Amino acid sequence: MHSIKHYDHIVVGGGISGLSLSLLLGMTGNKVLLLEKGKNIGGALFRFRRNGIPFDTGFHFTGGFYKNGILNDMLTVLGIHDRIHPLVFSGPGASRFVFESEQEAFDIPVGIDNLIPVLKKRFPREHAAIDRYFDLIRRVCANTTAMNLRKTMMLADTMDEDFVSLQEVLDQLTGNELLKGFCCGYCMCYGVKPSEISFANHARVAVGLYETLARVKDGGDAFIQAFQERFKAYDIEIRCNTSIEHCIEIRDQQVRTFLLSDGEEVAAKFCIFTIHPQEVLKILPREHFSKAFRDRVDAFEPSLGFFSAHGVVEDCKPDDDFGPSIVSLYPLPNLNTLLSPEYDGPQALVMLRNKESADGKVYNVVTAFEPSFREHVAPWRDSSVGKRPKGYRDYKERRMNLIHQRFTEYYPEYKNSFKIIDAASMLTFRDYLHSPEGCAYGIKQKIGQFNLFGKLPLSNIYVAGQSAVMPGIVGAMISSFIVTRSLVGKEKYGQFIEERLAH
Ligand SMILES: Cc1cc2nc3c(=O)[nH]c(=O)nc-3n(C[C@H](O)[C@H](O)[C@H](O)COP(=O)(O)OP(=O)(O)OC[C@H]3O[C@@H](n4cnc5c(N)ncnc54)[C@H](O)[C@@H]3O)c2cc1C
Repeated sequence: MHSIKHYDHIVVGGGISGLSLSLLLGMTGNKVLLLEKGKNIGGALFRFRRNGIPFDTGFHFTGGFYKNGILNDMLTVLGIHDRIHPLVFSGPGASRFVFESEQEAFDIPVGIDNLIPVLKKRFPREHAAIDRYFDLIRRVCANTTAMNLRKTMMLADTMDEDFVSLQEVLDQLTGNELLKGFCCGYCMCYGVKPSEISFANHARVAVGLYETLARVKDGGDAFIQAFQERFKAYDIEIRCNTSIEHCIEIRDQQVRTFLLSDGEEVAAKFCIFTIHPQEVLKILPREHFSKAFRDRVDAFEPSLGFFSAHGVVEDCKPDDDFGPSIVSLYPLPNLNTLLSPEYDGPQALVMLRNKESADGKVYNVVTAFEPSFREHVAPWRDSSVGKRPKGYRDYKERRMNLIHQRFTEYYPEYKNSFKIIDAASMLTFRDYLHSPEGCAYGIKQKIGQFNLFGKLPLSNIYVAGQSAVMPGIVGAMISSFIVTRSLVGKEKYGQFIEERLAH
């Protein structure tokens, strides 16, 4: 009989979720095999370079860097806190929502305590609604144990606000459409309409963004390098260009051995998938899941995606203020309309400016992205990178030109110096990130929905990742912490977290 390699855990997917999980499992004494289908680890964290300039793909900004905030705590536990340097969007105009049809702009200060007076000044008749909205946001987050590593994280954390939509809550609070538009502004950060997201999930994502909206110096690369450095101290093996082909031996509802795409057969006590839920079920044998279970997973809808343009402003003087700043243009205050695939007016547009240093040079970098849906790229869905037809190239050109036009209308001073260097459609994200539709946040996390998360009917198979509890990098990391707790056991996990937070 041939001998096969044994691991404690196989982690599938090398994005922020798989990286966090591998490190947590390594740190708690396990032998880990991390499998990544792409050429590199990092998933959506990965940066690409054009003309030597680094651009972000799927990580531009985040929240949670405030004192005892969940992101700060997770980075501390992982031992990478010192490697991640937040660049907070602070100061006049650094973070702004513009509602174009209403000709209204809101400069968003750092922190809810500073934001409330700004909103009350603009909406003098809406003080009660504003107080109630932020009270609810804070209450949901305070009662969500999964958002506090200092408490015992629960696998499922539900409350009344999980069963009422953001839209319903806002409709009860106020009739002011502009105020509602403002409160829905961060829908773009989870990719679900206000009428489809629960108030609780909106609150869980939005709270960090209201408290501290920040970029990270060197973007996703900072995370990838920090993880790579930390992995060296533990028994963590990384294999890129590799996935699980299929499960070879299944006994007592447990998968004992796996065949990898590199042809090797390996054994593991547990296997955790951090990839799209529908892709998980393509790898596992269908007969081990009931029809109801499979129908539930098949019914998950894709979240919103993005069309993004990447460029530079040339000839800026060294002392020119070039961010970091983020301006979101909303053609209408109604985010339900703006986030509908059938809407055919001007899209919302998020415009980010920041300075990047690379190889001794400083660049004024612009990333601008608009919502996109699979319907936008449906005619070319069977094409692949490098082999797209002319119609697709024309589509990209059209969107790039429109973004250029809107960016330079907003910043007329850059009319002659802003150049778009590259752009990415949902098909680009699909093919580079190996996600089925190229959506920004995996599945649409709708109100009342039971996501695929934690232990599956095959009892040594688990699921984490951005589609599990909350989208975005913070949500993806949280899912990995919760699954680690299940895998290593409550007590050992509690002790581990306590020791690491005391560092
Ligand atoms: C354009 C865009 C902009 C975004 N902007 C932000 C932002 O500013 N802030 C924010 O917080 N979030 C943002 N997001 C969302 C954020 O990137 C994700 O929520 C988060 O990075 C997801 O992490 P993950 O580990 O769950 O998945 P991913 O990063 O997608 O990682 C999954 C990994 O699994 C690999 N994989 C897939 N299938 C297999 C397989 N069968 N076997 C092995 N490996 C496999 C993939 O190649 C990938 O590396 C954005 C997303 C996009 C697309």
